[in-house]
Amino acid sequence: MPLRPDPFFAGEGLDRADHLRADPAAIASLHGSGEARQLVWLDGAPAVDEQGRLRWEAVEGSPPLFLGFSRGSPRFSALADGDAPATAYAHFQLLGLLDAADAPTFAAALSLANWHRRHGYCSVCGKPTEPNRGGWSRICGGCGSEHYPRVDPVVIMLAEHGGRVLLGRQPQYPPGRYSALAGFVEPGESIEAAVAREIREEAGIAVSDVRYLMSQPWPFPNSLMIGAWAEALGDSLRIDTNELDDARWFSRDEVVAALGNDPAAAFQAPPPSAIARTLLEHWADGLK
Ligand SMILES: [Zn+2]
Repeated sequence: MPLRPDPFFAGEGLDRADHLRADPAAIASLHGSGEARQLVWLDGAPAVDEQGRLRWEAVEGSPPLFLGFSRGSPRFSALADGDAPATAYAHFQLLGLLDAADAPTFAAALSLANWHRRHGYCSVCGKPTEPNRGGWSRICGGCGSEHYPRVDPVVIMLAEHGGRVLLGRQPQYPPGRYSALAGFVEPGESIEAAVAREIREEAGIAVSDVRYLMSQPWPFPNSLMIGAWAEALGDSLRIDTNELDDARWFSRDEVVAALGNDPAAAFQAPPPSAIARTLLEHWADGLK
């Protein structure tokens, strides 16, 4: 098996200690232990210090989110104040500072906090809900329904034809940036069907032989990016201009130049925190 690069945010992160979540007495005793630490938040996201590590402080009171253990120390978080980060684009600079070793914990804490921010009311009866199970669910005070943090699957894929790869530009991208096509998996759809549909809708290309490659948690706000590869059956593009400014085929040499930040490259590659870049690195190495 060839070695595959790991996407940013992927990896083990904290020991989530699921067995303790249903034991409020055990969690309360962890609050009081001298080893307990609480995540620091800044502007709606976990705070990062000058070394790129997450910032932790002594626990005050009873923070409702029990994240798990790191190096034997119980880790907690308050519910994040203020608005969730509007988009990932506002945070690429922060992600560029974040140490990869802390990225899975950053993703777990932010995604969980984003879910709490958006689920204060029951989707069954409309009454207020409260954190439960150490923050890994919410209970409705009206009808008793228990709600669990949601994860939204997104397919993101490279279509290949004749040794070239298909990339697109969304209107909000910086000048020159091209990236992998992507879209949400819809209800009743397999990963393979979602990959084929998105490429057909956005670029007018039929594909076959869809293969799963790798995945990445993406906490803006609650996605799981599912990286895939597909064989394109033709190269004649019909671009959906509601979704994309442009889409083009790029050769391996053009991809290698972009990944190397060559100023003469045909396009600007996605940033290191994006799974699209990891997929391109993987493809440039001849893997699929
Ligand atoms: Zn309810």
